[in-house]
Amino acid sequence: MKQALRRSRSAFSQRFGVSGEQNYYAWLQERTGVKLNVRPEVLGWSSRGQASNCPIVNEILDRYKKYSPWQLHASLKEVFVGRVSFLSPNASAESSFGSAPYIAVSEGLYVALDQCLYLWENVGRLQAKVYARVANAKLAEDELRQYIENWATKRELPEFIARTIELKRFLVGGDPSFVARYKGRAELFELRREGVSDIDFEHRKRRIYMAEGFIIGHELAHILHGHVGAPVKKVARAYLADSVAANMDALHNAGELSNEWMQELQADLTGYNELLLASNWEQVRRIGEHPLGPDRSRLGLILFCVDGIAFTILAMYLVSALGAAPTSFSTHPHPDDRLAAIINVAGKQIEQIIDNTTELDHGPEGGGYFQRIRTALEQFQVTYSICKRTLENALNEL
Ligand SMILES: [Zn+2]
Repeated sequence: MKQALRRSRSAFSQRFGVSGEQNYYAWLQERTGVKLNVRPEVLGWSSRGQASNCPIVNEILDRYKKYSPWQLHASLKEVFVGRVSFLSPNASAESSFGSAPYIAVSEGLYVALDQCLYLWENVGRLQAKVYARVANAKLAEDELRQYIENWATKRELPEFIARTIELKRFLVGGDPSFVARYKGRAELFELRREGVSDIDFEHRKRRIYMAEGFIIGHELAHILHGHVGAPVKKVARAYLADSVAANMDALHNAGELSNEWMQELQADLTGYNELLLASNWEQVRRIGEHPLGPDRSRLGLILFCVDGIAFTILAMYLVSALGAAPTSFSTHPHPDDRLAAIINVAGKQIEQIIDNTTELDHGPEGGGYFQRIRTALEQFQVTYSICKRTLENALNEL
């Protein structure tokens, strides 16, 4: 097993020129000459013998290896997941002949993720304000669109997209004007803080964790399904085939999908259900932390997962739209379909829990908890469609 990890690590280094033996942040700092504003323990972390060159990615992998359904553990232990300083590929699982598979997650995708999270926070906040004032859902949505359109024409949005492109130019081509502008200004590398409410700050860490977890989960799922790399153990493959088949039932148009799109949907559903949701739930279950009771806690976890996945899909869309991943439009299903598939499955999981629970219909904000969960899931779809239109407007203005 150690052997496979070593092979996958060296194949990764050969392909991307980023050492798998080195801490990614230290490597990036050395390469850019910019002192990154990260915690000292992150810079001091050693990647030797670990399954990633990034401590944060490594944490997620550890969780998946420890808590995902037992059939998957062995296969996950053999995969190296590294960060690279490209915008393209955004994230991909690859294998060279005779080597264990590895996964590369690009810095550009992280930057796009930051921008989309910021957009997601802003739209969500406006949404809450408008819903509190306007009772009629349709009116609320119209008013919301009006608000956002005004807001989106400000310079801010095209500017943040431009920043993503600029970073790409630097990372891929070493553009010197970028270095001059960014030198010594670590804050330009980071998710913006101005104008963000306390409540969003509280949620940021969890949202970023869910987003990274989904990106990694999706790519790992390609490996577990055998789309990439050597075939994984029979028992794991059979387990996943059953799990996906059950979820595919929920999809009306699954029969019309090409084989490539089908693989992407399989990776999305497995990444969400078997890795992100299952391993986080298993951890909560073993620790025994159910502040509301197990069923209501699980409902909350499902929502947190979907929340993270929704703006991750936006970030992937942004990276594709910038031309960084020209093939991903053809190989990945339309972003709207990807989110719809996840929401469909999450909705069924939610209804099943609500149908069978013996717990009180009561949450931190009082009675009517179950309905609030359903409404929140519907509202994600509105947030998503507004964010996507806003991104499209901004992209047109570039
Ligand atoms: Zn994929």
